[in-house]
Amino acid sequence: MPMIADEAEAVDLGLDWTAGFSTLGPAFFTELRPTPLPEPYWVGRSLALAREIGLEEACLESDDGLAAFTGNVPVAGTRPLASVYSGHQFGVWAGQLGDGRAILLGQTASGWELQLKGSGRTPYSRMGDGRAVLRSSIREFLCSEAMQALGIPTTRALCVTGSDAQVVREEIETAAVVTRAAPSFIRFGHFEHFAAANRLDELRALADFVIDRFYPACRDSERFGGNAYAAFLEAVSERTAALLAQWQAVGFCHGVMNTDNMSILGLTIDYGPFQFLDGFDPRHICNHSDTGGRYAYNQQPNVAYWNLFCLAQALLPLIGDQEIAVAALQSYKTVFPEAYEARMRAKLGLPGAAPDDRALIEGVLKLLAQEKVDYTIFWRRLADRQAGGDPAAVRDLFLDRAGIDAWLQSFAQRHEQVPAAQAAQSMRGANPKFVLRNHLGQQAIESAQKKDFSGVATLLALLKTPFEDHAGHEAYAGFPPDWASTIEISCSS
Ligand code: AMP
Ligand code: MG
Repeated sequence: MPMIADEAEAVDLGLDWTAGFSTLGPAFFTELRPTPLPEPYWVGRSLALAREIGLEEACLESDDGLAAFTGNVPVAGTRPLASVYSGHQFGVWAGQLGDGRAILLGQTASGWELQLKGSGRTPYSRMGDGRAVLRSSIREFLCSEAMQALGIPTTRALCVTGSDAQVVREEIETAAVVTRAAPSFIRFGHFEHFAAANRLDELRALADFVIDRFYPACRDSERFGGNAYAAFLEAVSERTAALLAQWQAVGFCHGVMNTDNMSILGLTIDYGPFQFLDGFDPRHICNHSDTGGRYAYNQQPNVAYWNLFCLAQALLPLIGDQEIAVAALQSYKTVFPEAYEARMRAKLGLPGAAPDDRALIEGVLKLLAQEKVDYTIFWRRLADRQAGGDPAAVRDLFLDRAGIDAWLQSFAQRHEQVPAAQAAQSMRGANPKFVLRNHLGQQAIESAQKKDFSGVATLLALLKTPFEDHAGHEAYAGFPPDWASTIEISCSS
């Protein structure tokens, strides 16, 4: 029970809270309060998400909101907790991990869980300090909101608050807290945790909780002889496949696809050393700590499948039959290529499928890889060209003029069956002009470190409407500067 003193100082955010994850019971979490940070200040806020959650915008300007979202005062109606999970990190079983620096405030009646990341130590912090640095918090905040605007399933970010409190990483940095939001933060690793300990009652309770809330159709599914847990595994595999197709198509590298960073809802989660590709290099490794390239861009679809195998292993006691569990994973192998091709066809402005589309897609990717052509700029220029823009702009990106000319010819032939205006419009809606490139994030971070937060706000505004032209902001859509390739993003955050 909260103490009377807590209730007196608690801040009312005007949200209705309801019991969600906490109904699972104490085996799944530890209740605790965030650790306050001195003299917090606002760094960034997403009014778009505030509206979706039903939070008064004034809360993202008020002192009460600032204190609440930094974890400095309790939020009325909430009982904060940190959850326990385990996971495979870089292909190796890592044992117990858990929310080492994230504290779940609770779930709103409208179905949003709100979590404070960087809000202090928890029983699952292990050697960590429970904090997140300003740099990585800004990256997570911007990318969460950018992915949503790109139409890619993701956890969201409501705001970032900062403090001058020092945090030791490779260098001394300052602390920040990101308020994340999602229908659920449950990861593959939550299931692995209880399966590894052979705690089958908890494993079943967890699966039932997720199925009832997020995959109710699995209960009535006739797939796998009415085995709801197998249907659930299949549904997670399909959502994960759809997610990976989106990542690959937009050129997003996650960087740390450990099983504890895989959402059971198929959301992008845990933004660490992620990167949007600049030049198209299928073998690109965005995480400086990933020396073996396990999580290279072109490995992501296979790694997701590997992670699903870990989930299948964890669910096996509930599914009860290894062959059924393996069968439930198979949909990944059909859904991923189908979803990927559909995304790429959208980028190409092709409404329906034709037999040679795969060759068209592979052909252009080969050309892009050959010269590491800028991935985002290529696609946007192709869209602009289709809309009547400069035809040379695409060609000029390639040294191999004969190669791109030949490809553009087959592209034009394929487009003979597609109304031009329709193609142009859909291509501009499928090929963003603005993505969160490392150097753009870096510039906003460096200004924010000097207490100028306008760069974060400008970038957020562009990333929230990434398919629009935004005249006057061309620099944000340009080629990365030479120094961009020297930015090293590691797991340190
Ligand atoms: P990540 O690689 O960021 O997904 O983190 C892996 C695990 O380490 C998770 O259990 C995190 O909660 C935990 N962790 C990462 N950084 C910290 C930190 N600074 N303090 C406490 N736990 C952390
Ligand atoms: Mg993580």
